[in-house]
Amino acid sequence: MDKIQCISCKQEIPLIDTYVKFKCPECDKIIYRCEKCRTFGHAYECECGFKGP
Ligand SMILES: [Zn+2]
Ligand SMILES: [Zn+2]
Repeated sequence: MDKIQCISCKQEIPLIDTYVKFKCPECDKIIYRCEKCRTFGHAYECECGFKGP
């Protein structure tokens, strides 16, 4: 099974953790964000260069 990684802090997200999963509006890549980064509103940057709040 693939490991999932937070787009903001680059930490591996344990599957038991809560996280958000969404598509990059630019390239439709699936992006994962850990609960902590979501809560604190950390910025993220997709590999296509898209930056989001
Ligand atoms: Zn994170
Ligand atoms: Zn993207």
